[in-house]
Amino acid sequence: MKILKSISEVRRVVNNNKNKQIGFVPTMGFLHEGHLSLIKKAREENELVFVSIFVNPTQFGENEDLDSYPRDLERDSNLCLNAGVDYIFLPNANEMYGENFSTFVQVDKLREGLCGKSRPVHFNGVCTVVTKLFNIVKPNKAYFGEKDAQQLAIIKRLVKDLNIDVEIIGCPIVREEDGLAKSSRNSYLSERERIEARVLSMGLKKCKALLESGERDVQALKKVIEEEINKAESSKIDYIEIVDSESLQEVETVKNKILVAIAVFIGKTRLIDNFTFEGEK
Ligand code: AMP
Repeated sequence: MKILKSISEVRRVVNNNKNKQIGFVPTMGFLHEGHLSLIKKAREENELVFVSIFVNPTQFGENEDLDSYPRDLERDSNLCLNAGVDYIFLPNANEMYGENFSTFVQVDKLREGLCGKSRPVHFNGVCTVVTKLFNIVKPNKAYFGEKDAQQLAIIKRLVKDLNIDVEIIGCPIVREEDGLAKSSRNSYLSERERIEARVLSMGLKKCKALLESGERDVQALKKVIEEEINKAESSKIDYIEIVDSESLQEVETVKNKILVAIAVFIGKTRLIDNFTFEGEK
């Protein structure tokens, strides 16, 4: 495994391997089993596997956690090595956003709801960096987690709209034993907050059970999640939304495939989780 820090080095490797199928997993590092599940899939389906580790400044808002975002390159590179990664692309901000950088990629509509409401610059930053990474690594397949469901929907739209020649593969959410979705940000939680953070997945679980028992009233479905989350003293709800899984528009009744998505602060840490459900056609 090699660590490449410059775009020109990556281009050289990619040009020397023109006949090989490249799988790509973009990350912000501080890897956990969620990331590793993406890497495993990429390893199974491709000849070369690239992982990028880049804490992308343009996707963080002014009062967000860019500076404190957890980083551990040594641990990450060991995990990548053991997972059979061929190349880590590890650029710095200067390499990615040189002088006079002025082009941003914006996917309208899909970026506006859910996380876009409280993180207005986030998805433009994500779309811009992912487009750049696709142009640099030129992967055949790229792997994204369903944990970031809005991101996945936006990236699928982006590659379709801009005719980027890459197949986007969504991978299921990996969870801790008690149900909490794995996230690099879980490391911010105190011991007590970590226990309380269970309410996210518990709320979703109860909502899913209600759906399976036939409940179709969106307010009732949201209420069961809200009640569960409010059991945690340190929780503050950012949003609980039930939307169409493709358009991400709010639904009034459960039809086609819906996405139940939540964002909740546990103390100062903002966590997200979701599930999808096939309603009536
Ligand atoms: P991040 O490093 O948080 O930007 O995540 C990099 C990729 O890993 C994104 O496509 C995420 O959706 C995915 N990911 C993060 N956490 C999980 C998880 N618990 N299960 C599956 N995929 C995940």
